[in-house]
Amino acid sequence: MSVQPLKQVACEECGGRGWVRERRNERASARACECSRVCLKCGDSGWRLATQQAAFSEKAGVRDYDVMRPCECREARQRLARFDAAGLPGRFATADFEGYRSQNEAQHRAWSEARAFAHGYQPGQGATGFILSGPVGTGKTHLLSAVLAHLALEVGVPVRYQEISFLFQDIRRGFREGKSGGEIIGPLCEVELLAIDELGKGRGSEFEMETLDELIARRYNSGKVTLFATNYSLAAERKGAPRAVHGYVSSDEAKQDAKDSQLLRSRVGERIFSRLFDMCSFIEMPAETKDYRVMRQELELRNLRPRRT
Ligand SMILES: [Zn+2]
Ligand SMILES: [Zn+2]
Repeated sequence: MSVQPLKQVACEECGGRGWVRERRNERASARACECSRVCLKCGDSGWRLATQQAAFSEKAGVRDYDVMRPCECREARQRLARFDAAGLPGRFATADFEGYRSQNEAQHRAWSEARAFAHGYQPGQGATGFILSGPVGTGKTHLLSAVLAHLALEVGVPVRYQEISFLFQDIRRGFREGKSGGEIIGPLCEVELLAIDELGKGRGSEFEMETLDELIARRYNSGKVTLFATNYSLAAERKGAPRAVHGYVSSDEAKQDAKDSQLLRSRVGERIFSRLFDMCSFIEMPAETKDYRVMRQELELRNLRPRRT
């Protein structure tokens, strides 16, 4: 009778990945799973003994020497720290590509492009980013979070997530504490991969435009990859612009237009918009894409309704 080898059972909690993503207050966080909390390879010292061949003297010739090498568990810990440093919102702590539900062709394309980007990313090699545009509830933040989580945890890339209006708030608060705007956006300019959410949101003040311009220009000039999500349309022009009728637009009218506009181009201005064009591929989910949070509610309501007999 032959003995069947024991089947390797993957840990139920982490599926064998060794880490678990979870919500910690307002932020997404990752921790080592119980199954791999203590490194069995190095006894948690972070160092492993290895053999290296070297010839220190001609007389002795090539010999084996014991050397201490950093254990892989150090890298694993660093990846967890990178995920925490990304600053993803708590409610997207577990967002991944498998958990994204596309309702139509455009959403499926957005999912597939985001996933291809994440899986094809080569650290330090530069890449074309993407900008996702679509109405509220089409899963744009979900996709950004899935990309950042994959890059931080599976590839080890330093990443950051930034909701743009929170950045403006932080800078205003910083001013009151005597910090400069440059000091606050510095880390966002430096990080290897940055995702900016809610692009176009805000009052559109001069201060906001200058901040955004500096951030994008600095990343653009240093060849860093940036991803964006926006509720505004990526179309170059509005259909049937009404003010074009009298052929003249006063600067007050132009300002009002930019404020009311549903076009990202008017929201961020020509300069930033054309930079986005150079840095990113444009992915637009049409306005008719249904908010999946509403759809889920509808579905739940339908299921709750008592059945007529
Ligand atoms: Zn586990
Ligand atoms: Zn180890």
